[in-house]
Amino acid sequence: MQCPKCLRDQFELEKPCPKCGFQIDPGRLVELGHLQWLLGQMTEWGEINIDAAPVSRLKEIYTSRLRDMQVAMGLRLPSFTVEEAANAWVELAHLELLFEKVEEWRAAGYFNEEMGSQDPVRTQRARADELRQRLDEYPRPEFPQKDKDRLKTVSFLLDHIDLLASREWFKSKKEIEKAIAPLMAVMLEVMADNQPE
Ligand SMILES: [Zn+2]
Repeated sequence: MQCPKCLRDQFELEKPCPKCGFQIDPGRLVELGHLQWLLGQMTEWGEINIDAAPVSRLKEIYTSRLRDMQVAMGLRLPSFTVEEAANAWVELAHLELLFEKVEEWRAAGYFNEEMGSQDPVRTQRARADELRQRLDEYPRPEFPQKDKDRLKTVSFLLDHIDLLASREWFKSKKEIEKAIAPLMAVMLEVMADNQPE
């Protein structure tokens, strides 16, 4: 079977996973399987003639039970607290914008060809996955667009341009300047708007 943690094949119930060391009481794994099966069934309940409200309430209850079990088994990171979540949403929004920019820069041919199809933001994507998992229970807020937030976003992106430049992702200085230019424009615009009269 597959290791429930790292998904490597040839996981044996009675032994720790040879790749990630995951080990679990087989009874707990059966319980986990039942919960996952039940939740899978519930998605089909919409097709039978049952009220949607109680079904969705049941889904909530069992989803939260599944999450707790996965956290206890070390298969999932615990959810953020409300305060942590507020910061994590901002971080995630920044990261997602960075991923969009990276696609733009790649499409515009700013990156060194020898980097091929490698991903310049692989670790950032792993971080974003972690954030999404831990934010799973929280609704996504509107991303604030006050001037202060726009400046923070710009400086986040500029830092990452620096980072990618130091790893020689960009073809030349010219491409770095092209990537920076629209961000500087936003920064100047915000600063001009806030100029004291
Ligand atoms: Zn494993």
